[in-house]
Amino acid sequence: MDRILITGGAGFIGSHLCESLLDNGADLVCVDNYFSGYKDNIREFSLHPYFEMIRHDIIHPLFLEVDKIYHLACPASPIHYKYNAIKTVKTNVLGTINMLGLAKRVKAPILLASSSEVYGDSKVHPQTESYWGNVNPIGIRSCYDEGKRVAETLMMDYHRQNKVDVKIVRIFNTYGPRMAINDGRVVNNFIVQALKGVPLTVYGDGSQTRSFCYVSDLIQVLIKMMETKNFNGPVNLGNPAELPILDLAKKVLNLTKSSSKIIHKPLPPDDPVRRCPDISLAKEKLGWTPKISLEEGLQKTITYFKEKLSLK
Ligand code: NAD
Ligand code: UDP
Repeated sequence: MDRILITGGAGFIGSHLCESLLDNGADLVCVDNYFSGYKDNIREFSLHPYFEMIRHDIIHPLFLEVDKIYHLACPASPIHYKYNAIKTVKTNVLGTINMLGLAKRVKAPILLASSSEVYGDSKVHPQTESYWGNVNPIGIRSCYDEGKRVAETLMMDYHRQNKVDVKIVRIFNTYGPRMAINDGRVVNNFIVQALKGVPLTVYGDGSQTRSFCYVSDLIQVLIKMMETKNFNGPVNLGNPAELPILDLAKKVLNLTKSSSKIIHKPLPPDDPVRRCPDISLAKEKLGWTPKISLEEGLQKTITYFKEKLSLK
């Protein structure tokens, strides 16, 4: 039985990963400081005989004996990661050093949940792994963007210097049930606004694009990446179906049958203009393409938020 550590396991993606790995028969240790994750996300696993929860902040060392490490701990929504920017940098730098030190000591493979944000406001479209990015090093998103870039650097340095088996995945916008109601990310924001009948807040003119991947597609490939030998990445993971944010707002209104209006608010600084993954490498090395369409994924997410808001 594999003893698996997930950092950030009480978060949105982490809790889905816990669920899949438990279903696959893993012996799981989930570590989280509940900064942007919730006990509610993992409550249903608490009685599982092979699920163990540790409240711990990964900027401090952690001594455990495990066989595999999924390192996801880091606030992912702009509201959360900007709230305490210095802490975001510490989580990415000190937290990743601590997890790499652990991986080195116990000789465990370690997967880092990096981000499409390493490309910044990309000048290359769609983004390929060979592109080095266009990132503002001193802006309000830098704690996250540069944090993830340093985390990737640390992964590769531990790999070259200490032979740690590292796996870097660059995750593009992912959505689904268990996103926090109030974390300000666009899919959950629009759905909650539409369900409450309040205006949908499109930042700027809404022409900026994103490409949205449903969480079950991502979980499947995270596990595939961990189990694939001799491939360190980085590899882009996302759904290449790209659309402007204004179109997303209209789609959400349609699917929720909401009569909410769309209003425009100022575009936050350094908000990337276009984002879409080139997933050729994931197809080639991992045999993966996402399966869930935006409509299907949005529908499942709407159902979740209806229950969460007690509208069902
Ligand atoms: P999330 O905020 O829901 O989950 C992150 C989890 O990490 C939370 O439970 C939080 O409490 C925990 N955490 C944060 N700092 C910690 C610390 N110092 N010590 C211990 N735990 C800590 O975010 P998510 O969407 O589930 O993202 C998970 C990972 O995937 C993150 O690393 C994120 O950067 C990456 N990612 C996510 C997306 C996306 O679209 N969801 C895109 C790119 C990358
Ligand atoms: N956005 C928006 N309205 C919202 C929340 C976000 O128009 O209520 C925009 C945001 O400016 C960005 C895109 O939606 O262009 C995606 O934002 P999110 O915070 O979900 O993720 P990002 O890709 O920016 O990290």
